[in-house]
Amino acid sequence: VTHALLTLKEFDVYDKFRDPRLHTYMHTLEATTNAEPAYKLDRRRLEQTLDRLGTIDFAHGQAATDTGIRNLSDGLKRLEVPSTLATLHPIEVMGVTDPNGPPNQGAMTATTVKAGLTTAGVSNTINDTPNGGTATEAVVAAEPEDPQITATYVTNWSRFSSAHEFGHMIGLIDEYYGATSAETVKAMISAGYLPPDTRGDHLKLNPSPTAKLRATEQANQEATQKVYARTGLETPDFAMNAPGGGDQPKTTSLMTGGFEVTQHHVITAWEALVEMTKTYIDEKWWKIT
Ligand SMILES: [Zn+2]
Repeated sequence: VTHALLTLKEFDVYDKFRDPRLHTYMHTLEATTNAEPAYKLDRRRLEQTLDRLGTIDFAHGQAATDTGIRNLSDGLKRLEVPSTLATLHPIEVMGVTDPNGPPNQGAMTATTVKAGLTTAGVSNTINDTPNGGTATEAVVAAEPEDPQITATYVTNWSRFSSAHEFGHMIGLIDEYYGATSAETVKAMISAGYLPPDTRGDHLKLNPSPTAKLRATEQANQEATQKVYARTGLETPDFAMNAPGGGDQPKTTSLMTGGFEVTQHHVITAWEALVEMTKTYIDEKWWKIT
């Protein structure tokens, strides 16, 4: 039997990468396995945040409105922690009104919410839709999916596999398996990446490919969560597959299929410093900033 082999070796990688067919193939693969799934995940997270916090109350006084805007802006800004590209997704504010009331308050609520989010530092594009009538609330929603933005993800995706593999060499774990330990699920709920009512059998819904791999990742995540806790860092976003397999757990983080080096990626250097200096200084004085 003759096997067709495609082997990349040190001495011929350079030439093969210069082959335009391989170059195109690699670009396509990068887009479909990393950049596009990250776009979808960022979008799903945005939709979840807006479902939870996107309705701003205008019927119960200024304090209720201010609180609503503050909670929503906090939620939206948190989306930038796992993905700096999250701000590329535009959102829309619609004033909801009682048709029998005086006109134009709906437009005012939309404008108020937009201004409040902008002042709080939300940098997504915000469109506001005027509505007549007496304002009762404003609803903030994601704009429809946009191939233009997916294309921006793809062009922003500047990744080297070697950097990811170097991450493993210094003790970092893959962040693309989803949460495989109960500790990780708890930490993700506490960080707001999973809703508080996340089901107890959540891990069963997101199985790793094999039992062996699952056991390895579980041990890795348990050990790593302990270091995060010692450094005072929250868990990174061990992104979960959407129910029904709607998307893949990919983010802009170097240790999924992305390109960003985050605070989580210096924890082993932190550990080394702590170990080297432990006779002189307590670990609480070493901070990752
Ligand atoms: Zn890896």
